[in-house]
Amino acid sequence: MQTHDVVVIGAGLAGLRCAAELAAQGREVLVLEAADRVGGRQRTDRVDGFTLDRGFHVLNTAYPAVRSAVDVRSLSVAAFPTAVRVRRKDGAMATLAHPLRHPGLLPATLASGLVKPRDLAGLVRWVGPIALWPRTAVGRSDSTIGEGWDAAGLTGALRTEVLSPFFSGVLADSSESTSDTYVRLLARSFLPAAAGLPREGIAALPMALASRARTAGAEVRLNRAVNRLRRRDGRWEVDALGEGTLLARDVVVAVGAEALEGLVDEPVPPTRGLQTWWFATDEPPGSTFLTIDASWEGPIVNALAISATIPEAAPRGRHLVQATCLWAPGNGPGESDVRSHLVRLYGQASAAWQLLRRDDIPHALPALPPPLRRSSPARIGPGLHLAGDHRESPSIQGALHSGLRAARSVLSAG
Ligand SMILES: Cc1cc2nc3c(=O)[nH]c(=O)nc-3n(C[C@H](O)[C@H](O)[C@H](O)COP(=O)(O)OP(=O)(O)OC[C@H]3O[C@@H](n4cnc5c(N)ncnc54)[C@H](O)[C@@H]3O)c2cc1C
Repeated sequence: MQTHDVVVIGAGLAGLRCAAELAAQGREVLVLEAADRVGGRQRTDRVDGFTLDRGFHVLNTAYPAVRSAVDVRSLSVAAFPTAVRVRRKDGAMATLAHPLRHPGLLPATLASGLVKPRDLAGLVRWVGPIALWPRTAVGRSDSTIGEGWDAAGLTGALRTEVLSPFFSGVLADSSESTSDTYVRLLARSFLPAAAGLPREGIAALPMALASRARTAGAEVRLNRAVNRLRRRDGRWEVDALGEGTLLARDVVVAVGAEALEGLVDEPVPPTRGLQTWWFATDEPPGSTFLTIDASWEGPIVNALAISATIPEAAPRGRHLVQATCLWAPGNGPGESDVRSHLVRLYGQASAAWQLLRRDDIPHALPALPPPLRRSSPARIGPGLHLAGDHRESPSIQGALHSGLRAARSVLSAG
């Protein structure tokens, strides 16, 4: 039986980044993926002429790990407006926009009532130090974002009506209990770049990475769920569906947090979930901005007309809108709850929008409570390495960087 140099389990961002690096460094690499395509949580489908990601994803092209992993220009990323439309606690709608990217919206931003000098000073106190000295941030004392905002004196409408609802959707956490250091680093990463989406959907990123890994010589096999790993005679035996038993000198386990159990003897990190509802409409929705609801009068944490930025995401003359809710196991919102909330956010016209699909994603992101650690070690045993966003941070940056670290861990072992 042939012994592979390295078997990578999982073809999400972490596994693909790891495989691309190892193959580029001359290792013989086999990637085994349980699903019928690469990408893991980053998946895109064409449904009735619409481009639907599995859940609402955003790509920040300023992430260093993205820039070093793929040619960002080849992804054809369209940037979303750097603005939010907020349904305020009293039900009024307000707009808050980046003053340099949307100078024309400055009067609306100032009139929104959401930016008071005291809050702006708190915002600078909160994100300023990390923006200037990011490397010193990790390892210092950490707290929850709620405590971090309190400590910075960020207690007014900018926090309660913008930052808190906005980050609830980004982190799948409405309890303000995520690591303050991580969220400040995240906020900093959005300062130099606008967030967007590849015109072909988020799966363009893992596809580009898979192509890079294959070009470097890695082999990727789909529909190959690994169900057992065993150490014997200094090598790893890998039992996989459709393969039987394979032998490997090194194994990189690059599965999501929820799939660790049974493969490796490591604590399983808790995860947070999201649910996205996709709608088609004939009339353009009332706003092209990300819409959030500070009154929490409904289950939607954010909604966006995707096709306003990426027209090719919908057939000609039609429009695509996503509405994302936090995942509530066994007690999620019904369609009528989501529709009534949409009417509050977009007006009566939304009552007629056609539901295209609902995505339930119970394990969307690993939870990241404080303190933020300086990433967990990649090597967890002889010839055994672990990658995935749960080893680093719940993001594209975290997943890609963990994959690179796992590759370096394999290479450093000789
Ligand atoms: C809805 C949603 C929105 C998001 N939005 C953003 C965003 O806007 N910005 C951002 O930075 N991040 C975002 N993320 C997070 C980002 O997508 C993830 O952090 C990243 O994709 C995780 O990659 P991964 O390789 O660590 O894990 P995964 O993508 O989970 O990949 C793991 C792979 O392992 C495979 N696998 C599992 N078990 C086995 C087995 N036994 N054998 C073989 N294969 C197996 C799985 O099928 C999967 O392909 C979002 C995530 C979700 C779900």
